[in-house]
Amino acid sequence: MANIMGTTRGGTPWEPQFIVAIDQTLCIGCGRCYKTCARDVLELIEREGDDDDLDDDQAMVMSVKNAMDCIGCEACGKVCSKKAIAHAPAAL
Ligand code: SF4
Ligand code: SF4
Repeated sequence: MANIMGTTRGGTPWEPQFIVAIDQTLCIGCGRCYKTCARDVLELIEREGDDDDLDDDQAMVMSVKNAMDCIGCEACGKVCSKKAIAHAPAAL
């Protein structure tokens, strides 16, 4: 099965890299990826775990809400200072 391919406006082929996962042990919940994504793929949620163990600034973490709406642009990964977001090609 062939991977999904795209083309630039100029007709050059490129291979989209779709979001696969967010490493919530690395994510600091800064929201930069959320602001960057134009496809409503991401969602900031409360971090699971014992509230007593979490500082206020650790309470939220990013998650993948609509992976099937991802267009594979990798913008979220480029703005993540923690390198918490993994991408990969995909086949239909
Ligand atoms: S940019 Fe990175 S650290 Fe910030 S919320 Fe997104 S995944 Fe988490
Ligand atoms: S790869 Fe692009 S479309 Fe997919 S989640 Fe990241 S910013 Fe959104």
